[in-house]
Amino acid sequence: MSTVWSFKQELVGVFGHPVAENPTQVMIEAAFTEMGLDWRYLTVEVRPEDLGPAVRGAKAMNWMGFNLTIPHKVAVLDHLDRLSPAAVMIGAVNCVINQAGEWFGDNTDGKGFLQAVQEVRSIKGARVALLGAGGAARAIGVELALAGAAHLTVVNRDVHRGQLLTKLIRDRTGVPTNFVTWEGMYPVSEGTDVVVNATSIGLYPDVEARVPIDPQTLTSDIIVCDVIPNPPRTWFIREAERKGCRVIDGLEMLVNQGVIGIRLWTGKEPSPRVMRSALESVFQP
Ligand code: NDP
Repeated sequence: MSTVWSFKQELVGVFGHPVAENPTQVMIEAAFTEMGLDWRYLTVEVRPEDLGPAVRGAKAMNWMGFNLTIPHKVAVLDHLDRLSPAAVMIGAVNCVINQAGEWFGDNTDGKGFLQAVQEVRSIKGARVALLGAGGAARAIGVELALAGAAHLTVVNRDVHRGQLLTKLIRDRTGVPTNFVTWEGMYPVSEGTDVVVNATSIGLYPDVEARVPIDPQTLTSDIIVCDVIPNPPRTWFIREAERKGCRVIDGLEMLVNQGVIGIRLWTGKEPSPRVMRSALESVFQP
């Protein structure tokens, strides 16, 4: 019989509100098991007014790090020691790493998305329509521009939010970016290579919600991406497949940002295949 030398688990997790529908634990713990790591990933309900105590708790218990989801990605900045350049530019943190007692905030949402797209085509020179201007869109827009996209169109209902993101991308990266107010059905411009739904349209429980886009303008040469992880087969993804488009669902982005998070926390390389298949097993129709 082998000697058990430690009964201590390392802890990471996600703080959110609401958080119960967040499936991240499934893929991260599957990766830990496959890597032979006795780590736990906890899904923790933290109300906005409790974020400070929750972060102090994680520090006191020497967690190795944690993810943040709605509504904590901006508020957490007040509780960290250092930020990555991407987190500063995006103005939000989704991944915190305990670096020998120093709490470092990064933003891996956009990098995860970028990785998913780059597996299909190089983003260099691509013309992108970015639907939405919230936290996910900010992360995606900045990373696509930094990676060499030729042009971005930000499409958003709220004019102020849309214009802020357009200016941020243009000023910080120099990539030509224009803003279109989202009214009625958005017609995708000719020559667009990638369309990204970075809104919350289609997220559980509103699973049949339709992205207001003119279906006639969605041609088969366009790569269509959705950030919605739950459920992964959104109306938008199904409609794009029907049009013959190459699609990238929200699980790809989730898995890829999870891969980056595990790498940052453990210094080791997880298997994206194991992570995706763990998620697929819980999203079986
Ligand atoms: P925010 O609340 O910051 O932004 C929401 C965005 O969606 C805004 O641009 C908002 O427009 C737009 N929107 C919402 N409803 C509608 C509608 N009916 N018509 C048009 N626009 C609409 O949320 P986040 O950016 O943080 O998150 C967005 C989504 O991204 C979430 O569903 C989340 O699950 C997903 N996500 C997925 C990740 C993954 O790994 N797959 C990682 C991170 C997020 P307006 O400004 O006009 O209100």
